[in-house]
Amino acid sequence: MNRQFAAAAFGALIYFGCVIPLSAAEYEALRRKMVREVIVASGNSPPGASVVAAMEKVERHRFVPAWLSIFAYRNHPLPIGHGQTISQPLIVARMTDLLKLKKDDKVLEIGTGSGYQAAVLAEITKSVYTIEIIEPLGNEAARRFQSLGYDNVKTRIGDGYYGWPEAAPFDAILVTAAASHVPPPLLKQLKPGGRMLVPLGAPFMTQYLMLVEKQPDGSVTTHQIVPVRFVPLRGGH
Ligand code: SAH
Repeated sequence: MNRQFAAAAFGALIYFGCVIPLSAAEYEALRRKMVREVIVASGNSPPGASVVAAMEKVERHRFVPAWLSIFAYRNHPLPIGHGQTISQPLIVARMTDLLKLKKDDKVLEIGTGSGYQAAVLAEITKSVYTIEIIEPLGNEAARRFQSLGYDNVKTRIGDGYYGWPEAAPFDAILVTAAASHVPPPLLKQLKPGGRMLVPLGAPFMTQYLMLVEKQPDGSVTTHQIVPVRFVPLRGGH
């Protein structure tokens, strides 16, 4: 009897937890809580006001598979299919903050994935270009941008290693998959005075988020920021 009750209770939990979506107000409360957790977890490097506002606005639960939407506001990466993940909110906050974006900036993202990071960028800047190598993921994200009204995000399916030369130069470039080296085409497409973030390292080894700055005179400096864990950058380079 007890086991039957436990099974029924578990069933009810799954049913009410997963099948019936939360209300917009409940999602909003969870979103605010997540952003507060991200600020606390950021320690000495809390995200700036524009990043906080963007993350309070972007509905992360719309960027994950429906069955995971109740977990969307945990400070965790989540699977999005095709062996890929939506990044951890803490990392999205840190990366976005490090780009020091201005309203008129043009940003390139490599690795659209779910589209969440691009949406956060699009809340802050005028135009976002994002490239995804896995066609179904790229198409799904494009549909999402359209339905959520992000008409300042342009999408492309292809190998982001080569960037988006027709739209270059960019004020900022964000690579959201781990590369073995800084892709030279991306460095070329970065404006003097611009910033690029790229996780560097071999798959399954420690990777470091690198901040690459192109100085106004064209010279390049790099700084190692924090250890990170990203899926590998694919492609034949
Ligand atoms: N920014 C995403 C998460 C990135 S996961 C989000 O907010 O959800 C990394 C993504 O990079 C995956 O979707 C993967 O398919 C993509 N990717 C890997 N190699 C790539 C390449 N060479 N060019 C473009 N996208 C690539």
